[in-house]
Amino acid sequence: MSDFKLVAIKCKTCDSGLVVSLNDNITYCQSCGSGWEIIDGETKPIEINFASAAIRGDGEMIYKPFWLVTANVNIHERESSGGFLSNLFGGSKEQTSGTIKFYVPAFACELEKMKNLALAFTSSNPVASPQKFNVKLVGFNYGKEDAKKLSEFLLITIEAEKSDTMKTFNYDISYEKLEILGIPFYRLPNNILKDALMGIEI
Ligand SMILES: [Zn+2]
Repeated sequence: MSDFKLVAIKCKTCDSGLVVSLNDNITYCQSCGSGWEIIDGETKPIEINFASAAIRGDGEMIYKPFWLVTANVNIHERESSGGFLSNLFGGSKEQTSGTIKFYVPAFACELEKMKNLALAFTSSNPVASPQKFNVKLVGFNYGKEDAKKLSEFLLITIEAEKSDTMKTFNYDISYEKLEILGIPFYRLPNNILKDALMGIEI
């Protein structure tokens, strides 16, 4: 039962004791709002913020970690049509480069559900003003490199799904910032979770 092994570290900012699940490599200090990434036993700062609930729901509210990946995407060649990517860039239909904020679940979740969540959140960018909350945030299963790979997968998925005629798609992607967002979920009966921003059940 390795899930229940715990290690104790101290917050470098406020000296509070932090209890970290052995499988987690990121921890949030509820006392001062600092985030820490544990790399080879060293704690390095990482930005952690939270989204407020936007819709009402029944059941206990819990927070699940997402990676918020800010990436610069440059499309060199695209032989297909549609306007979805231009929405992502927030500009005109002709726009072929810009910054995209990818929302990638950092917690363990079935691949299909993870993809649905990530696509919906990335398309609508629903967390305009992340903030510090005094709540628990645990269950980090995917690290930075996973988040980058999944962002690229999302970019390709978005392009591939908007057209059945895609032949070429050349792009480059560079990562500007990777931070953590705590997204609120309602815990419904039968262990279903429903997010409190877009109402997606997983
Ligand atoms: Zn602290």
